[in-house]
Amino acid sequence: METLQDFDNGNLPTWCPGCGNFSILAGLKSALVELGIGPLDINLCFDIGCNGNGADKINAYGIKGLHGRTLPLAGGISLGNHELPIVAISGDGATFDEGINHLVHTVRSNYKFVFILHNNCTFGLTTGQATPTTPEGQKMNSCPYGVVEKRLNPIQLILTLGATFVARGFSGNVNQLTEILKKALNHNGFAYVEVLQHCATYNKFQDHQFLASKVYDVATDSNFKNDRSYAYNLVDYSNEKIATGVLFQDEASTSYPQKLLYRHDFTTKLKDEVKVYDISECLREFS
Ligand code: SF4
Repeated sequence: METLQDFDNGNLPTWCPGCGNFSILAGLKSALVELGIGPLDINLCFDIGCNGNGADKINAYGIKGLHGRTLPLAGGISLGNHELPIVAISGDGATFDEGINHLVHTVRSNYKFVFILHNNCTFGLTTGQATPTTPEGQKMNSCPYGVVEKRLNPIQLILTLGATFVARGFSGNVNQLTEILKKALNHNGFAYVEVLQHCATYNKFQDHQFLASKVYDVATDSNFKNDRSYAYNLVDYSNEKIATGVLFQDEASTSYPQKLLYRHDFTTKLKDEVKVYDISECLREFS
């Protein structure tokens, strides 16, 4: 039986005190333990950024990719092994700036893995520059007179791309995040989980207290409907309150591997069919 201690690797955290990254990593570990998934049964794909430094703070199989490129890594792994639980982790800057093309095609493909999007509206690791989710007009280190571009709404974008699982959590509510991640890990397709995260050092306009005063769980709303258009309107920036929880799920979702018609009669997985090549000659040549 897995325990939280199994995921500890003894490394000291380098995140700023009060950073939302602590609770997001705690929520992920709790979800894995509660689902009986151990450190050797999961593959974690990390990006570059403060969130990506979580790779050093968890004992589990994982890989760290280039900035904004964690989604194709996770997609490739899921193609090779359809049954392996996979969680890709990235930030709002990497995902909606450099990596937005990967996001579009990952949603279209509906690969079976979970994507945790840390949204703190900030490039934290590089000291507080604006990202596409920073509010228009907000002064940041990269734009002291305020952000000129319009603010991107990530969940509205994801919904219009046809995502089959869309959820939003808050770094101040680990229990809710754990439950969301458990549902996401059981979803048959690409599961997008955005987490509104407090950046204690560079985001003073949307801090923990601000977020805590705005968020509510849709599970407590008797009018809530599991409907794509309903969810789209629910997350509009003009709304006073911020909806969290599983905002939309297509229960009939068909993941990418299930749509590969040419493989329908195969009983093996791609990972079983990869040939083993002896490259020792090549290595000798270049040594
Ligand atoms: Fe966290 Fe912000 Fe510090 Fe990065 S800069 S570790 S996101 S508080």
